Amino acid sequence: MIRDKILIVEDDPGILHFLQTTLSAAGYDVLTVETGKSAMQLISSHCPDLVLLDLGLPDMDGAEIIGAMRTWTSTPVVVVSARDTERDKADALDLGADDYLSKPFGTVELLARIRTALRHTRTGNESSELALTGQYRVDALVIDYKKHRVFIGGEDARLTPNEYRIVALLGKHPGQTLTYKYIMKELWGPAAASDNKLLRVHMANIRRKIEPNPLEPKYFFTEIGVGYRIAEEEE
Ligand code: CA
Repeated sequence: MIRDKILIVEDDPGILHFLQTTLSAAGYDVLTVETGKSAMQLISSHCPDLVLLDLGLPDMDGAEIIGAMRTWTSTPVVVVSARDTERDKADALDLGADDYLSKPFGTVELLARIRTALRHTRTGNESSELALTGQYRVDALVIDYKKHRVFIGGEDARLTPNEYRIVALLGKHPGQTLTYKYIMKELWGPAAASDNKLLRVHMANIRRKIEPNPLEPKYFFTEIGVGYRIAEEEE
């Protein structure tokens, strides 16, 4: 079995040790570097399967690394950062990071996010079930990409075309947070309003039609100030 190779870019010795120990114990091949410059070198020379990236590095901003990487590779990047303002998260995701973990975080969460990010690369951003059946399903929710319909508990959720497009887009990135900006651009083009008010109205309607209890969402999660994420089926 070929083990996935993960590059950890982190200058804090304590966190680096924690990440290294956890990922090795989980069966990954682990490489570590402490500066942005050596990260850039290792990414091109060792082609890791995933990069775990701290934003606050001694020699450069981790965001620069994401930007540079995205000009030539789609290797998944999971940002690990103490900076956890909504702006920072949204910026990292918009630059092309696949996910964002705020320090401190636990082992279970770390490993789950890594598995999700690795799976997305393998399936070319579509879940294998979606590729096979044209459907995304999690629990009682089914998105039928051929019929352009969404079903909940076997019943047509009667979404409007815009609501369907939002759900369809999220369903193609299960478990991944899509930023407001990304969703609006995908839906309404580059000239889309920067204000996410309309999107929030659509999402409220989607939840009302789909969630058994919209106050405790089961399918559509909000990352406050960042974007939305659809539930992912456990393997
Ligand atoms: Ca740091």
